[in-house]
Amino acid sequence: MSNPFLNQALAGDIKGTGTPALRIARPQGDGQTCLVDASGIFKTYRKGGREVPVLRGVDLTVRDGEFVAIVGQSGSGKSTLLHLLGTLDAPDQGIIQFEGHRIDILPASERDQLRNHAFGMVFQFYHLLPELTTLENVVLPTMISRGVWGYWRGKRELEARGMELLEAVGLAHRRTHRPRELSGGEMQRTAVARALMNRPRLLLADEPTGNLDTQTGQEIMKMLCSLKEREGLTIVMVTHDSQIARQADRVVRLVEGRVTQL
Ligand code: ADP
Ligand code: MG
Repeated sequence: MSNPFLNQALAGDIKGTGTPALRIARPQGDGQTCLVDASGIFKTYRKGGREVPVLRGVDLTVRDGEFVAIVGQSGSGKSTLLHLLGTLDAPDQGIIQFEGHRIDILPASERDQLRNHAFGMVFQFYHLLPELTTLENVVLPTMISRGVWGYWRGKRELEARGMELLEAVGLAHRRTHRPRELSGGEMQRTAVARALMNRPRLLLADEPTGNLDTQTGQEIMKMLCSLKEREGLTIVMVTHDSQIARQADRVVRLVEGRVTQL
């Protein structure tokens, strides 16, 4: 299976220009400032001479500190939109701004920097590395962004941050376990902790509860809501589950390639 987390991380700042200094907590989002602004987004896939228009004029604004859920039927373009917001793909038309700067036309190296330092990503399948422990999986993004030497120099501090996150997701007691020794919910908690390691401004989550039973899914949602408060995170989450979506601050629906507010 391809590993979008690793692909995007490895495409990034491997040489290690250094992450921003470790801080204990980010300032809370003020709930007013616009963090993400996507306007007039069009995206069509072209395959074997066939065109599949997916996004047809999406407008979406996300405020700093907000938790927005995107719902819509399977195939409605939720993942496509999330990938565009995360600069994993580029729109055919339209503008995407992050903190007031255009990110849809950034050169690849700046896009990789942005993803490594400002965005955290979580997927339905956890994409943990099987041979690493829980704590090692969590600190992996800093190994990648700082390079091996940078990581070793800051090892103590970085592992402390990793442990802080494992505590925040309720997994401190599983720090030396390998992914195969964890439940689905525990693997997703680990993936969330890993996504937060570089202190992102924005967490992008694609069906984070999609592979979990209802109760475990609820626990992940509770954890995301609490991390939003504690870490001052802004979250954009895609889900096909309206019960899950209801717990976000705001729900928008993708219908026929456009966003409607609910
Ligand atoms: P969702 O996440 O809402 O289920 P997606 O964004 O994954 O929807 O997909 C939207 C549509 O685009 C689907 O019809 C899907 O088959 C198509 N699609 C997605 N990715 C590609 C691709 N890389 N190439 C061609 N078609 C794609
Ligand atoms: Mg999807």
